[in-house]
Amino acid sequence: MSALDLFDMSSANSCVNCGLCLPHCPTFQLTGNEVYSPRGRLGAMTAVLAGTVTADGAFDDALSTCLGCRACEAVCPGLVPYGELYEAAQAELVAKRPTAGRRVRKVLLGRVLGSRGMIRSFTAAAALVQRFRIGRVLPRFARHAVAGLRPLHPRRSGWAGRSVEPTGTTRGTVALLSGCVMDAWFGPVHDATIGVLSYAGYRVVIPQQQTCCGALAAHDGQVKEAQKLAETNVVAFAGADLIISDSAGCSAHLKEYSRWAPGGEEVQTRTRDVTEFVAGLIAEGVLPSLTEHRGDVAVQDPCHLRHAQRIMAEPRAILRAAGYRPLDIDPDGLCCGAAGIYSVLYAETSNELGRRKANEIVATGARLVASANPGCEMQLRARLPAEIRVAHPIEIYWEALSASGSGSG
Ligand code: SF4
Ligand code: SF4
Repeated sequence: MSALDLFDMSSANSCVNCGLCLPHCPTFQLTGNEVYSPRGRLGAMTAVLAGTVTADGAFDDALSTCLGCRACEAVCPGLVPYGELYEAAQAELVAKRPTAGRRVRKVLLGRVLGSRGMIRSFTAAAALVQRFRIGRVLPRFARHAVAGLRPLHPRRSGWAGRSVEPTGTTRGTVALLSGCVMDAWFGPVHDATIGVLSYAGYRVVIPQQQTCCGALAAHDGQVKEAQKLAETNVVAFAGADLIISDSAGCSAHLKEYSRWAPGGEEVQTRTRDVTEFVAGLIAEGVLPSLTEHRGDVAVQDPCHLRHAQRIMAEPRAILRAAGYRPLDIDPDGLCCGAAGIYSVLYAETSNELGRRKANEIVATGARLVASANPGCEMQLRARLPAEIRVAHPIEIYWEALSASGSGSG
């Protein structure tokens, strides 16, 4: 059985070759080559599906160089579901071209990201690199990754297995996805999310049995690993009224869980990215809008928030409610080049896109950048001057709320 049989590939034929997606595709912008465009890639997928060509090296090159940013999907008049087709093509590559790199990624994206113990060990090693400032001896991709990290605290215990009661009138209970690296590397984002939600009246539970959402495994075509992680989470989040994620890549993937696990539609329909949930609470007046002007903030739209979930207004509404003036940096929302493990596989392209995004941010003059996705945050921090801070919109809001005397964080 072909890996493509796991997905509905019939929609690949719905591309009418109009080319409207081409100017929005980062790899087409960089190369000017149709092979590295959405239309070219869809043509290759359709040919492989029809069996007129095999999944050879050229197919591998065309598909592997795709960032999976889904900018093409967001502008397609034919509603071609590029993201799903891309994951199917990656699965076909895993099945037909099992390279050493793919075998390593299978372990890394399945077993390692699914294990809190392994992530803790990796975090301890990365913390030592930070502490002794020995990042310079690492290969270039690892240097950039370490430079993009927040200060790590390996002894800090994560949120998984805990619950927090609301501070005021109880409005309900929400479950938080603690994620794989979010808990270990982005603790302050979880602190802010939990602080804001409990301030708004929600009991926040963080199920112990949960694991990595599986987005990175799915994007890399590691189907069995992605399915196993999704199945674990379906059980862990059973019965939750609402599931909140403060990582855009994770919320986008949870919203597509019906494709990854039996019962996944239950998770899919109850998932909200924290930005859409909190912006709704601000609009309803449950959470306050602060009037004190705090300055400008440049807004970076993560692809899996803007293109995959079509969420753009909400982070800006949260930043305005925190007293900031949001500044747009790029009308097309071009990918910053992080794209999961893309920065490791295609360091040069990733670096060029990251450098362009950093330059756009510097040009705004803002000293604060809001990004709602951990990979984008790291990509930007590694390339921005040290005096420009990168933070999640929820952190920015919670800090403003706390400074105003309303919050307690
Ligand atoms: S915009 Fe959609 S229909 Fe047009 S070429 Fe791109 S994928 Fe095909
Ligand atoms: S997902 Fe992004 S990089 Fe891939 S074809 Fe679409 S626009 Fe281009």
